[in-house]
Amino acid sequence: MCALSAQSKPITIDRDRLNRELETLASFSDSPSPSVTRIVFSESDRRAREYVKDLCREAGLVIREDAVGNTFARWNGDVSEEAAVGTGSHIDAIPNAGRYDGTVGVLGGLEAIRALKRSGFSPKLPIELLILTSEEPTRFGIGCLGSRLISGNRDTSVDEKLKDKGGQSLRDAREAAGFGGDLRKVLLPRGYYRNFVELHIEQGPLLEQGQLEIGVVTAIAAPASLRITIEGQGGHAGGVLMPDRRDALCAAAEIILGVESGAKSTGSHDTVGTVGVCDVFPSAVNGIPSRVRLEVDLRDIDEKRRETVFRLIRQRCDEIAGLRSVGVQIEIVNADAPGECAAEVVEAIESACGTNHLRSKRMVSRAYHDSLFMSRIARTGMIFIPCRNGISHRPDEYASPEAISNGTRVLALVLAELASE
Ligand SMILES: [Zn+2]
Repeated sequence: MCALSAQSKPITIDRDRLNRELETLASFSDSPSPSVTRIVFSESDRRAREYVKDLCREAGLVIREDAVGNTFARWNGDVSEEAAVGTGSHIDAIPNAGRYDGTVGVLGGLEAIRALKRSGFSPKLPIELLILTSEEPTRFGIGCLGSRLISGNRDTSVDEKLKDKGGQSLRDAREAAGFGGDLRKVLLPRGYYRNFVELHIEQGPLLEQGQLEIGVVTAIAAPASLRITIEGQGGHAGGVLMPDRRDALCAAAEIILGVESGAKSTGSHDTVGTVGVCDVFPSAVNGIPSRVRLEVDLRDIDEKRRETVFRLIRQRCDEIAGLRSVGVQIEIVNADAPGECAAEVVEAIESACGTNHLRSKRMVSRAYHDSLFMSRIARTGMIFIPCRNGISHRPDEYASPEAISNGTRVLALVLAELASE
């Protein structure tokens, strides 16, 4: 059931053009090349959006933007009023990042659409390219802001509640960038998308190590983040004898190891736990730590298993609090449910790899992406391509033109398949 079998011309990806466009997009940056810094609603972000929108218009797509700046570029299908097939990603970049994270999914998505148009393909269902706002949490502290709002995963009180470091609210920042209007309207009606497919660099080393060309994502892990505050008793490092101490940092050290052993206890390499922040008060060499704040990131593709680990950590915290006579408070900052990819998209990706003799494997996305939230409202899948040494979020992030072209070709075939039914 190849959707393109009736077409006369084969799919050709304009690799050089796509790479030139990625290079141009990388030039809209607040840090010098090769690094890319593009914070949401900054001048660089606005210029980058204009650039991509111009390319979309040139390709004959119809553009719409919502109140948070999510941008939809639509290729209307033969059948009107039908659910669309979506593709896309993000173009914002954390400080000092590289040029491929997110952008490959946006410009690759556009090239996939252009390639289908060049081949003479005509979709039954509309195909829509999305540029999703603020996938990176840099400015407002929440990742995947645009796709969360699209899927109803966040209430619209974020408009006032979320503030950047300078104290500017989301509402003011988006209005200043030209995206006014009611945030409630960002939520898409059920059934708006039938499918969503995101092309993305792997941001890990597995494809390169396995000499594979395509990763077929079957599930997207989701992080839960916890803040653990330990209250002990401060004092002079010389004056307070060891038996009398209630050292908050010693308790924190045991809790950190508890997070590690909790994550290891599931026996699955899909469970990972990290303590990435440890703030010590008063942080003086001759002062016994009286208070410590830890931030914990816990991820899994299985929500129940993640909850089991969370219970183990909580238990361990209670034990340590008792043994060391310290207070331990746990606050859940965020706990998104993991996402599962749809079998029909996974199979369409695999079949496109087979047609093109590309070596692929099924894998889990350990980082989370807009697709996690799109999977709540559409049958979703992700196509991964290798990136050098698995490096991402760094200026030396790199995906070869060939890898990008392979991923774009697979995306084009998958879009054709899904938009034909
Ligand atoms: Zn990304």
